[in-house]
Amino acid sequence: MIASTYNSFYKLSDGNYVIVNSLSGAVDTIEPDVKAVLDGLKAGKELDSNPELDELVAYFTKRGYVYESREREWETLTTLRDEMNEKLQASSLGVVFNVCTTYMCNLRCPYCFQGHDIHKINHALSQDEINKMFYAIDRILEMEHARGRFHNAKHTMLLYGGEPLLPTTKKTVHEVVRRGIEDYGFRSYSITNGTFLHEYLDFFEQYKSMWDFFQISIDGPKHIHDERRITAGGQGTFDRIVNNIDMALGRGFKIALRTNVNKDNVPYLEELAEFIESRGWHDHELFAWQISPVYDHFAENLPNHMPEHHLLIALQEQFGDMHQFMDKFNATLGTDLRMRTSRIRQAIYSKGWSSNPCDTCSASVPSAVPIFKQCSARDHRYYTFGSEGLIYACPETVGREELAVGTFLPEYHIDTDKHNMWSQDFTTSEQCSSCSVSMFCGGGCAYSNLMRNGAINKPYCNFSHQSISTYIKLNEDKFMTAPVT
Ligand code: SF4
Ligand code: SF4
Repeated sequence: MIASTYNSFYKLSDGNYVIVNSLSGAVDTIEPDVKAVLDGLKAGKELDSNPELDELVAYFTKRGYVYESREREWETLTTLRDEMNEKLQASSLGVVFNVCTTYMCNLRCPYCFQGHDIHKINHALSQDEINKMFYAIDRILEMEHARGRFHNAKHTMLLYGGEPLLPTTKKTVHEVVRRGIEDYGFRSYSITNGTFLHEYLDFFEQYKSMWDFFQISIDGPKHIHDERRITAGGQGTFDRIVNNIDMALGRGFKIALRTNVNKDNVPYLEELAEFIESRGWHDHELFAWQISPVYDHFAENLPNHMPEHHLLIALQEQFGDMHQFMDKFNATLGTDLRMRTSRIRQAIYSKGWSSNPCDTCSASVPSAVPIFKQCSARDHRYYTFGSEGLIYACPETVGREELAVGTFLPEYHIDTDKHNMWSQDFTTSEQCSSCSVSMFCGGGCAYSNLMRNGAINKPYCNFSHQSISTYIKLNEDKFMTAPVT
């Protein structure tokens, strides 16, 4: 018998431990002598047999904390992965076609991951280029269908850039949206800086039923936002964006507000929350807020960069109970943080300790799924069309020609080797396969792994372990009042 590779332990201040298993999803509060049994197994100790211990081992087995052998554990993992993959392929979840209508941008946010040279390229997709992009979409869907994928799927289109919604890109946007929604039935949304949204709302009105949301960033109260999200001429944009959000909400469009956080603006989240409340956005059914750390994909060691778990601490310090705050503002954390903490959050909040303590591995909790691929780029579910005519597997790689996986201009072509490189779950990495939290993490951001370590299966962990331990620490009162094994 062996202790599971995917157990991790977190000490509580009352001396007990939280045990979490990222394969089964089980979470329990246990006493030190129970932990000692698992520690002994990990060290290769044989277990004695007595009724008390047998009962404990039966519980461990049910919760996935022990296996009869490493091979059996691996078989459980790969079977689960393959079953989940089959379910995913049979589901209606399709591709996101990310369309960079242009690389131009009217803003010069200092932390922008794209760099600003690309934003000066004065070009938006022409009619002929749009035709070729939709030709490429047809070929991509043919290719995916031939691979047995997406036969029942509904696909999505994202307008992306640069800044997609500029006064000078209207003709391009109108044509891309018209064809994407009317001819292909794509549900659509846009990541926009929001500064010219008022010039577009009349156009989008006709597509409202197919339009999911506008994601718009506000990085703090006015005095902070206006230092960060500035025009090429250095002016702040807060008032314009706030007015446009009011206008869009008033006209029935969903707004996904995003706040990009680093050390510079993290102290001002509370002030921003007060502003949001004063505007009544938090009570608006069409409003959501995502608070996300600024990513450092390139290991540039940004001087003001903030490790992800520091955001958890800051939220607790500024708002007290993080979950009450998140419920009040319809807020979520950035992708990595949300993913890494969601199954533990689910254990705490959706099950009820007394009736079914932390049983996230229960089949009655379908969303408590292990994560084998950190994002859709690792599953060929993103196809991103750069305005220079290249196709990318990850939207954040746009403009880095060496990472393109194909072209739609002048002709359609997919480089199969480059494309297939992205399709990897964490089991292609030795380090991730033996990592206790791998199925809370999915092997990290493929792009960061590539940029920092040279390969998608050489992981950059982005504070994964620290995020989970910090989250448990911040919620330890809930674990300390849970039934103890
Ligand atoms: S990226 Fe790091 S934390 Fe994530 S699964 Fe791989 S080794 Fe573990
Ligand atoms: S590879 Fe990384 S940057 Fe690209 S879409 Fe996935 S998580 Fe985002």
